[in-house]
Amino acid sequence: MAYAEDSLKPIVIEFKEYVRTYGLEEVRETEEYILELISFGILWKSYAHTALSVRYAPFITLTCMAEWRKKHQSLKPYIDIARGIFTTLYLLPQNQDSKELPIPTLEQIDHVCKWFEATGEFREEALRFVRWRAFWGTKQPEDLAKIFTTIREFRRWFEASSVEELGMYTENVNNFLQKSNHRYRWREDRISCTRTRAEYHLNMVGAELMNRAFRAEFKETQSKVVLLPGCMRGHTNEDCKAKRVEEGLLCEMGKKWSPQKSQTSRGVIASACVTTLVEGGWELKRYDVPAQCVLLNYSGCKKHWHCAGISTELDIRELKRILN
Ligand code: SF4
Repeated sequence: MAYAEDSLKPIVIEFKEYVRTYGLEEVRETEEYILELISFGILWKSYAHTALSVRYAPFITLTCMAEWRKKHQSLKPYIDIARGIFTTLYLLPQNQDSKELPIPTLEQIDHVCKWFEATGEFREEALRFVRWRAFWGTKQPEDLAKIFTTIREFRRWFEASSVEELGMYTENVNNFLQKSNHRYRWREDRISCTRTRAEYHLNMVGAELMNRAFRAEFKETQSKVVLLPGCMRGHTNEDCKAKRVEEGLLCEMGKKWSPQKSQTSRGVIASACVTTLVEGGWELKRYDVPAQCVLLNYSGCKKHWHCAGISTELDIRELKRILN
């Protein structure tokens, strides 16, 4: 945040004014907007050349499929097979230019946002980038060039300093990508499980920025719900005392929770893999649920990460810190 003070923050201040003037949304915290700009910089570098190599793709169908799999749990396995094939065929072409792209144009941003939505992995980011795109559309070309240069410089600084500060937690990511990339071909989780090291760092920093941005609202909620992923369950189905309810497994000690729009007095603490947590936090925010997050120490479910599956864990001190 200190480094962003003279670079990203002035852009955010202007954007907040724009959002306020046109009533695009309720103005959010500065941390959230800064996270959006860092995300734009990192994701643009990771995916823009791929997205821009795709001329024709069933973008709308793929975007709908990502929605259907959430709404219709019973159809999810079938939809996922189709999504895996479509994603590999249409969204991840083999021949692509891997050179860093020059400053983006607005038309390129439109195209990349469509691609982000179609992947189903970056829906929340795409929704936010579209608002930024509207703001950038009001700028003169020289001001736009300055904005994108600032984002690119910040991204370069972030990549280098995040390796120094967080690199000890992600030392094996590149090794994992090299060894496992081929395993994910044709699979719907291909993008989600092959994130770059910089994206891991982005999500780690993003989790902290989100916690700060949503903290005040979260503290005001009357009750708190802890949502944990199934991969943390050490017991087998037979031994586990959790009850199966509509929303998933309900821990014996837990209370039933459902994300109704009206239930704003209920806060959520969620835990998940580093690659998915920030997306989830933004989604909850869209439902007006103030959330806090605790990263899993590592990923391990059989479905996405590990051939035999290993039970995962979180840092209980961090969970207590957030609850207190
Ligand atoms: S390892 Fe990650 S993707 Fe798999 S169930 Fe746990 S949180 Fe979800």
